[in-house]
Amino acid sequence: MEYTEFKSASELIKICKEKRKGVGKIVISNSASDLDTTQKELKAEMKSRITIIRESIQKGLKISKRSKSGLSGGDAKKIDSYAKKSYTKVSKTNPLLGKTLLKAIKYSFAIMEQNARFGRIVALPTAGSAGTVPGALFAAADDLKLSDSKLIDSMFVAGGIGMITGENAMLAGATGGCQAEVGTASAMAAGALTSMRGGSPKQIFDAAAIALKGLLGLVCDPIAGLVECPCVKRNSTAISNSYMASELVLAGVESNVNFDEVLVAMNNVAKLMAPELKETARGGLAISQTGKEVAERLGIGN
Ligand code: SF4
Repeated sequence: MEYTEFKSASELIKICKEKRKGVGKIVISNSASDLDTTQKELKAEMKSRITIIRESIQKGLKISKRSKSGLSGGDAKKIDSYAKKSYTKVSKTNPLLGKTLLKAIKYSFAIMEQNARFGRIVALPTAGSAGTVPGALFAAADDLKLSDSKLIDSMFVAGGIGMITGENAMLAGATGGCQAEVGTASAMAAGALTSMRGGSPKQIFDAAAIALKGLLGLVCDPIAGLVECPCVKRNSTAISNSYMASELVLAGVESNVNFDEVLVAMNNVAKLMAPELKETARGGLAISQTGKEVAERLGIGN
């Protein structure tokens, strides 16, 4: 396919329309040219990342001990056993979450707990937001019984949304707060979930816009500077938000503000955000009573 450069969501949507191709196909084709490789090799590389992520989920589900800080660990296992009990005919727990969403959250916890104990994970787009995209997509792919090739395509859709965000805004908590990490991951997941279920390019970016708007202004305030609290659970917030955004667009709801404009807004919010709320562990939850106690116990100064 001929290389067609895009820097924004609106440009990518236009290219998809002109070429009658999906977002994933354009991203794969362009990325193969950019990286001077073939589409086949690129897909094989993505498949190997998927394998690494699946291993991190399996390992994360086996963790039963809390981490050194005591802030995370063993919760993926708890969710797993709760889910196993919850969706039976005789369940007494009456779960309110759908089975797939709870599974997505479980996967995300497993990955983030692996990260907290320095296990191998795939940063997506960052280590702090590594649970969101795979949690959301892998659980949906399991339950919708999608092939790995469909999953790979949706991972490239997520990648395209991440690339546009990195190009026009930022992906690091240190520059944009958590909106740039977990917010972006939620947008990536929302768009990819929409693509996976047959949404149009416009719907993909509307879902991404709705998800990012919901997390705009989210601050980065990790306790003791560790990627554990609020990071582990915040990935689950991002997943729930992405499922909601994807369902909304598939129901016909549109975003009033398009994705490119949301990125301009994110830049603006990032500029207005105090340095204390950008990964310095000097504001928000990091200076809560608990935050201070954990930092002191670990000998990490605020
Ligand atoms: S709070 Fe900060 S460190 Fe934690 S996930 Fe968000 S951006 Fe990353």
